[in-house]
Amino acid sequence: MPPDASAEPTLKPKAAAPAKSAPQRAMEKLGLVRDIDLALHLPLRYEDETRVTPIAQARPGESVQVEGTVRDSRVEFRPRRQLVVRIEDDAGDELVLRFLHFYPSHQKTLAIGARVRVRGEPRGGFFGLEMVHPSFKAVHEDTPLAATLTPVYPASAQLPQAYLRKAIEGAFSRAPLAELLPPGTVPAGLPSLKEALSVLHHPPPAASLAALEDHSHPAWQRLKFEELLAQQLSQQQAQFERAKLRAPALRAATGGLHEKLLAALPFTLTGAQHRVAEEIARDLARPAPMHRLLQGDVGSGKTVVAALAAAVAIDAGWQCALMAPTEILAEQHFRKLVGWLEPLGIGVAWLTGSVKGKARAKMLERVASGEAGLVVGTHAVIEDTVQFRQLGLAIVDEQHRFGVQQRLELRRKLGRAGLEPHLLMMSATPIPRTLAMTYFADLEVSTIDELPPGRTPVVTKLFADHRRDEVIARIRDEVARGRQVYWVCPLIEESESLDLRNATETHQQLCAALPDQMVGLLHGRMPAAEKAAAMSLFAGGQMSVLVATTVIEVGVDVPNASLMVIEHAERFGLSQLHQLRGRVGRGAAASVCVLLYTAPLSPTGKDRLRAMAETTDGFEIARRDLEIRGPGEFMGARQSGSALLRFADLAEDNALLMQARRVAPALLAQHPAAARAHIERWLGGKQEYLKA
Ligand code: ADP
Ligand code: MG
Repeated sequence: MPPDASAEPTLKPKAAAPAKSAPQRAMEKLGLVRDIDLALHLPLRYEDETRVTPIAQARPGESVQVEGTVRDSRVEFRPRRQLVVRIEDDAGDELVLRFLHFYPSHQKTLAIGARVRVRGEPRGGFFGLEMVHPSFKAVHEDTPLAATLTPVYPASAQLPQAYLRKAIEGAFSRAPLAELLPPGTVPAGLPSLKEALSVLHHPPPAASLAALEDHSHPAWQRLKFEELLAQQLSQQQAQFERAKLRAPALRAATGGLHEKLLAALPFTLTGAQHRVAEEIARDLARPAPMHRLLQGDVGSGKTVVAALAAAVAIDAGWQCALMAPTEILAEQHFRKLVGWLEPLGIGVAWLTGSVKGKARAKMLERVASGEAGLVVGTHAVIEDTVQFRQLGLAIVDEQHRFGVQQRLELRRKLGRAGLEPHLLMMSATPIPRTLAMTYFADLEVSTIDELPPGRTPVVTKLFADHRRDEVIARIRDEVARGRQVYWVCPLIEESESLDLRNATETHQQLCAALPDQMVGLLHGRMPAAEKAAAMSLFAGGQMSVLVATTVIEVGVDVPNASLMVIEHAERFGLSQLHQLRGRVGRGAAASVCVLLYTAPLSPTGKDRLRAMAETTDGFEIARRDLEIRGPGEFMGARQSGSALLRFADLAEDNALLMQARRVAPALLAQHPAAARAHIERWLGGKQEYLKA
């Protein structure tokens, strides 16, 4: 139909959206967008304006509210300009108020004869008690007191307290807070969500401030439970949805590739390796996608377990992709897997960002045709341009080192229509049990809890930096015996150049100290080819000492290396130190790890390094790390998904977590709409992050 010229134009210029005020923008930045977000933004503490304290009972340092009549109000100029007001309460006791900044309006409210209610913290002054910059307001004798405690929210210069209070007040009255949970879900004795929030925003005068502030109050318990439940529901739902997806059932055939691989290995599997390999094989044989984490201490032998899983998949006619977070690590895997799998007739392709041009085209062709049964590389393996003939299994090593975004991307990429590939993740950083239940409920876990035989535990020694010469003498002894040595310098993120200088200086020093040995240097800014060359000289045994930044942190495997020196050990996290230390002690030789530190150490610094010397158990170290750094840190990148628990505390709220875990399945099965609404209320659009 032709446009009707007389009609109103349908395309009006779009009305400009009203500009947002600074406080609005500040709120958005804090994620305070929906009414429910604001309603769930809780006070840090409270002020008690529900009563007036006689001035005679006010004590220095204790915040109180007093009321009195202004007897004197004057501007003094010494030692600097200030407004000094004297008030007297009904009992005849006096208090001085002092304002270093003031406006005429203040003077007006605080004029002689006015009755004022004043809040602040008195301190001992020259003429008795005084308050500096108290808050105050004009009152009459019958002005009512606040009925509830006054909330104090986390605020900022851009987001003033008064603005926030008003915004939350309004949002709380509008927010849809109807009870969603059927009876029997919430632990007995806890209030409804609406009641709980009402108490938390405006506690009645009788409420226990201590219980409110230490979060043991029933209102807090309800909130924590709600939050934990949302997380459990979201995780269990993801699990449930995944169970509906279909994957190729990859059955390990008798006499198949995986048995041939086992027979060809130069060692026999440990009991733990056998067990986890079977757990994985069982998952692979099912027609639903596996979603399993393989955790095992550094050196526990996860790679061969991955190779066995790959052999099963390839034998069944499907392809396998193995991804590592760094090129060096990927290359280590590549060599090892080529050595194991090519003799069995399996094609192994190599794909990273630095494979370019013709070589890349050739690799892509091998992957697309299915000629490559296994593709090893960095996350370049899942780029859009990579087409598999049919991908049956994806293995991700050190999966926690991939960022949240990368992990989400991986899932999206793999989650194409039709059959999903199975997913195996590997990590040397064990997840503590409570964290596993909260954040990784959607994940099956296999644990290798045994090291291959014949390993001598690494002995860890602490040396202050001024004993560097002794350390270098040790290196000389070690290389004289044909052994190899790592020297690790810290990665200083703020200053890559400083980091580099540190490594190059150490490199030069060691070159000079060991003139007849090959001493190499490896750092993150070297071109990939140079890195690979240095690594292969070291792996081949021609290079005696390798000075490296933390690029060697994960997965490098040179069994002849028996001494590891870590410079500025105090700058590393415990788990990182443990990973690094795991680079030695891989052969039969007794190995030593020297933690070189710069004195003086802080007391916690000392404790941490001592912990490293005391234990070589990665699970114990992870536990201590969690203790020192808290779960937020432990989760690393995950916290950037802002999906961390805001209210619940895993250390304290175990009982609530258990209850949430217990009721979640029934809620999902019998009240799916309520479950969905609950997840939406608590997580909004954030569920995705929980799945990463
Ligand atoms: P990680 O679990 O840290 O990835 P790797 O898979 O790199 O450990 O294994 C560490 C070393 O132990 C490798 O050299 C590997 O070949 C060897 N290894 C693995 N399993 C066994 C075993 N059962 N017996 C002896 N050596 C093994
Ligand atoms: Mg490994």
